[in-house]
Amino acid sequence: MAVHVLRQFVVGSFWASDNTCQICQAGYQCACIQRVGMGSAQAERLRVPLADGTLVATPEPPADDLIPSFLAASDVLGTGWFGAVAAEAGPGKTVAVVGDGAVGLLAVLAAKQLGAERIIAMSRHQSRQKLALEYGATDIVEERGEEGAARIKDLTDGLGAHSVVEAVGTQESFKQAIGSTRPGGHVGFVGVLHDVQLAGEELFWSHVHVHGGPAPVRRFLPRLMDPDLEPSDRSGQGLRP
Ligand SMILES: [Zn+2]
Repeated sequence: MAVHVLRQFVVGSFWASDNTCQICQAGYQCACIQRVGMGSAQAERLRVPLADGTLVATPEPPADDLIPSFLAASDVLGTGWFGAVAAEAGPGKTVAVVGDGAVGLLAVLAAKQLGAERIIAMSRHQSRQKLALEYGATDIVEERGEEGAARIKDLTDGLGAHSVVEAVGTQESFKQAIGSTRPGGHVGFVGVLHDVQLAGEELFWSHVHVHGGPAPVRRFLPRLMDPDLEPSDRSGQGLRP
């Protein structure tokens, strides 16, 4: 959602939130106690509930050619960003991204901006591999499932990646993500899950952190809308240098 309001340009996301409750203050505006779903809102004019908490204004109206980028920030970029933050991508880390759709590719970009040292994109499509490399991927792995996880281990001295973003949401991709993560590492999952079953015992022995869900895009909007904010801030929210 990106709309002109009178003379001000504002960006929101797929949940309206008050941005003041304890859940919002912790950075989980998508689970705000007052949240209102906005996911199906596409209109020329829109009444936005909880507008003060939901919308972030730009200092001045942006050039027309920037507007599609603000739209991406409100949805797929914010989601890819959350995947990378949930996976604790950052300096010195090896990050693997499962999934090469818009969210996966933007998770590659997010990992790069968050300072990851090595970024492995898991993709079989040449055009998407090319984009992943443009966005900061250092390696491409074409194998999937257990083979894909084994390939990530090969590339990381048998250990697995520190951070893995799961941006697909199938049984195979989820297991691939967990199997690609080293003990103590983090899986950030942002692919909407479809009938994924996890064996508790498998999770128990994996020693990985698993965190994800619908992205609290509102947390990241100020950073995503202002590239001058410090990119390596670990919270991903952005801080003034
Ligand atoms: Zn709230």
